[in-house]
Amino acid sequence: MNLSYWETKTWFSYIDFCIVGSGITGLSCALSLKQRFPKSNILVLERGILPNGASTKNAGFACFGSVSEILDDLNSHTEEEVLKLIQKRLKGLQLLRENLGDQNLGYKEYGGYELFTKEDQPLFESCKAHMPELNKMLKPILGIEAFSIQKDIFGFKNIQKKLIFNQFEGQLNTGRMMEALLYKVQKAGVKILNNITVESITDRQDAVEIKTDKLEFSSSKLLIATNGFASQLGITEVKPARAQVLITKPIKNLDIKGTFHLDKGYYYFRNIDDRILFGGGRHLDFKTEETTEIAKTEIIQQKLEELLKTTILPDSSFKVDQYWSGIMGVGSQKNPIVKQFSENVYCGVRLGGMGVAIGSIIGKELSELIS
Ligand SMILES: Cc1cc2nc3c(=O)[nH]c(=O)nc-3n(C[C@H](O)[C@H](O)[C@H](O)COP(=O)(O)OP(=O)(O)OC[C@H]3O[C@@H](n4cnc5c(N)ncnc54)[C@H](O)[C@@H]3O)c2cc1C
Repeated sequence: MNLSYWETKTWFSYIDFCIVGSGITGLSCALSLKQRFPKSNILVLERGILPNGASTKNAGFACFGSVSEILDDLNSHTEEEVLKLIQKRLKGLQLLRENLGDQNLGYKEYGGYELFTKEDQPLFESCKAHMPELNKMLKPILGIEAFSIQKDIFGFKNIQKKLIFNQFEGQLNTGRMMEALLYKVQKAGVKILNNITVESITDRQDAVEIKTDKLEFSSSKLLIATNGFASQLGITEVKPARAQVLITKPIKNLDIKGTFHLDKGYYYFRNIDDRILFGGGRHLDFKTEETTEIAKTEIIQQKLEELLKTTILPDSSFKVDQYWSGIMGVGSQKNPIVKQFSENVYCGVRLGGMGVAIGSIIGKELSELIS
């Protein structure tokens, strides 16, 4: 790139903090850094023309975990760890709502439902049996009992007749959330450059050298918020996990309202603008879905369409309008990684399927690594 004096001086000199990735985490980190260091020069680098990982692709569930998800987490994490993560999800949602406002988010607290397939009677019974214990565990945080049993009033098929309801679950408009966040961050004075990919970084102790596909420059500190793509910059604890979704065309008289988890959360759906957004099915082909390639596959899309027809909308005629996918970051542990990577490099990654809830707080925690 043949930069002018003005371009070099204005955009690529005296950078205090360079953030890689303009998803929820990177932008929330930028916002928090600007609040803590108002005079600092902050530059966010994003490889896509829009954020191009998960933050503009997700389902917009504002949730802290279904009964089967929490029970599953308790199998591989201690009760203290599980509670901490639930608290983080709740705090993160609170921060997101404070930062952007419910109106801008299109936030609606319709509640969330867990559905169990016909074959999943044993899991349903086990969740029902453990529900009082989970309600007790969460009551000190939530004030009242979160989970209750309800009848299926939506006319779903091939599932258990009773559902588990969580009154605290909400949904938001993902596009509006990211639009509002981008606006707020830029208004605060943070520079964002799109269509630029960071290829490598070298920590030189006094500064970090950043090599991109367009040019090279340096920053005093560098913060990595690339989640599912983190291993490309050397954070090997994070693996990519693609998630595919579809959305229907508007459906007349649609009376499904809320967020829904089906088959241990392997599938999820919600209403939005008289449509159903439906995603999941990664477990059908875990190996293929361990990729950073944004694409769809026949096996998953066919299953999603089949479940829509047989289980979710058995009595409505509908057409699929759009398919898309996004990339999450996962690992052996569910907890995100927020840590100093080297003298001047920090990272906030591995947000799994929880980034709508925890992205704001992970971004803030990432910024707080800098003293
Ligand atoms: C289909 C789907 C549904 C989901 N549903 C929900 C949900 O309902 N509720 C929930 O809580 N979570 C959900 N999630 C998860 C949530 O979206 C993520 O956890 C969250 O968006 C992560 O935010 P992030 O900012 O950490 O990462 P990202 O949003 O992935 O941002 C990382 C950014 O870094 C950029 N980048 C990567 N490498 C480079 C590089 N080398 N140079 C420059 N830029 C780079 C990427 O383009 C990307 O924009 C879902 C995810 C998907 C994919």
